Amino acid sequence: MKINNYHKVNTLDEAYALITGNKSSSIIAGGAWLKFSKKTIEDAIDLSNLNLDKIVEAEETFEIGCMTTLRNVEKNQSLQNFYDGIIVKSISEIMGIQIRNIATIGGTVAGRYGFSDLIPVLLVLDTKLLFYKKGTITLEEFLNLKGFNSDILIKIIINKKIGKAKFISMRKTSNDFSVINVAVLKNDKECKIAVGARPNGAIFAKKAMEYINNFKTYNKEVIDECASITSKEISFGSNSRASKEYRVELCRVLVKRGLQEVL
Ligand SMILES: Cc1cc2nc3c(=O)[nH]c(=O)nc-3n(C[C@H](O)[C@H](O)[C@H](O)COP(=O)(O)OP(=O)(O)OC[C@H]3O[C@@H](n4cnc5c(N)ncnc54)[C@H](O)[C@@H]3O)c2cc1C
Repeated sequence: MKINNYHKVNTLDEAYALITGNKSSSIIAGGAWLKFSKKTIEDAIDLSNLNLDKIVEAEETFEIGCMTTLRNVEKNQSLQNFYDGIIVKSISEIMGIQIRNIATIGGTVAGRYGFSDLIPVLLVLDTKLLFYKKGTITLEEFLNLKGFNSDILIKIIINKKIGKAKFISMRKTSNDFSVINVAVLKNDKECKIAVGARPNGAIFAKKAMEYINNFKTYNKEVIDECASITSKEISFGSNSRASKEYRVELCRVLVKRGLQEVL
């Protein structure tokens, strides 16, 4: 990565003007992932002066500023207890503390990386995102947007609910990307299932969710069937980490284990 001009902006207006004015401009968050890129960035926009690195816990929500590092999310005591610590669990498996001290939650969400461990978790938590121009949209809407490079993600908003949740990822070695990851959640209203690292980005298992949400009690057959529906409805691919067929089989097993935990 080569940067021609580095701007440490003092307002979001300033940042927005720089993004929209130039196609080869880019927001730099932690820069941990961007630095692997070979591209030349004409205007790099650093948001670190804008006080966007706070986690605010209100009565009904957690609001996490885009520049909050993954490590600070991981160390937050309230998040450690929220839904069995599912957010913290998904983050704490990413590389080492050095990387998590640099990488931010904003860069993680805005990057929409297929391998992301956090995104499936945020999906089942019904996360909303506040953008500078787009305003508030759901994470699912954002993941489905075609093309995105002209807005600023300001914060991640998570509704506080009570329930059980489980994140499971399969890695070949601890520092590698997930071969597949699964997030399963159950609260007083519903059960949610999301699958990521397919190797494409995380999506809901909508048919499986519809199936399981018809039941009030859950026996082994119901759980097995739900896991099987998930592995059939989600589309998988092959890459250097795993074949499509292996991912299908892993999906069924991991969803089953997740459901057994949360139900
Ligand atoms: C060596 C390494 C290994 C990793 N392994 C894993 C792993 O196993 N699992 C996993 O889930 N993740 C992994 N990651 C990814 C990491 O967790 C972060 O998601 C990634 O580094 C992006 O965060 P960042 O702060 O570095 O963003 P940056 O690299 O600074 O930015 C990423 C992208 O987001 C854009 N952006 C950043 N902030 C904003 C904003 N506020 N508004 C709009 N756009 C924005 C940038 O312009 C850029 O396009 C790994 C990263 C590294 C470097």
